[in-house]
Amino acid sequence: MSRMFRAFITLSLAGILIWSSVLGKKAKASRSTEEKDVSRAISQKYFCRELDEKGILMVASLDVGQGDSVVVRAPGGKTLLIDGGPRGNGKYLKNAGEKDVIPFLNSLGIERIDVIVSTHQDNDHLGGLIPVICQMDVGCVYDNGNMHVSYTYESYLNALDKKKIPVKIVTCGDRIDLGNGVHLQVLSQLGGTEFEGNENSIVLKLVYGDVSMLFTGDIEEKAERALICSWGKNLRSNILKVPHHGSKSSSSWWFLDIVQPETALISVGRRNPFGHPAKEVLNRLEASDNSVFRTDVHGNIAVFCNGKTYSVSMEKGSPIALSIQSLVD
Ligand SMILES: [Zn+2]
Repeated sequence: MSRMFRAFITLSLAGILIWSSVLGKKAKASRSTEEKDVSRAISQKYFCRELDEKGILMVASLDVGQGDSVVVRAPGGKTLLIDGGPRGNGKYLKNAGEKDVIPFLNSLGIERIDVIVSTHQDNDHLGGLIPVICQMDVGCVYDNGNMHVSYTYESYLNALDKKKIPVKIVTCGDRIDLGNGVHLQVLSQLGGTEFEGNENSIVLKLVYGDVSMLFTGDIEEKAERALICSWGKNLRSNILKVPHHGSKSSSSWWFLDIVQPETALISVGRRNPFGHPAKEVLNRLEASDNSVFRTDVHGNIAVFCNGKTYSVSMEKGSPIALSIQSLVD
């Protein structure tokens, strides 16, 4: 058995441990608090140490219901949070920051977020960032610079002001370095009057060795076309965080054709009122031979990557979805 294979088996076991035990969603009510604390401490130490020792990057798309939130943890521990899910108590929106994002970070022993990227100002992305900013140690926030009139946006600005967290308005080409060979680049053309709202989402390409991932916020076809014009084949990525929760106004044929992803992650809530993900988009992804993972079906989804190849674990269903064989080669 090769070292790489053993590493991923170990990691996958750790991943299973995380999903089934540390995250605690299915923890038996009868277990004492003390037992759970001990179990959590052991698992945290074991899991993060494994990631660092093996040089493994973790990218987790969290099940935040109707919204979007991604945690990126580089080997060495630098952590990036892209959006925080929604804020709300209604039928469709929940307080994802308190209910999902912070508990997830706590469960892994992550106490500091080095960089937050707020892709745009819609509540389903921005709302959950507010409790994260208020309650956690945050290094800085990257924002697209759009002004927005909403209670959520105002609360976000107040939280940043209160904690005195530096805010950087990103520009196309900016680079975010997470150390140990992991970096992200801002690809979207931001500012001006051409794009607004969803179309002005910050788009990021993450690169770790031979593996790349594209994060697209809620962009639609117009922004997709602009990205193709600006970056062409540089958009090519192994993994695509599907734009706008799988809306039919995004993931155009030409965009998928140039990105050529093999794995697609969709962040979407159950019984989405807008019909996300659209059947057309699922068909397009299927026709392009993508493995599709959805937070409404699979719960939290984590990609583990060693810079050469990657594996996907899910909270629900089969914990190892991609062929382990590819990791041996
Ligand atoms: Zn959205």
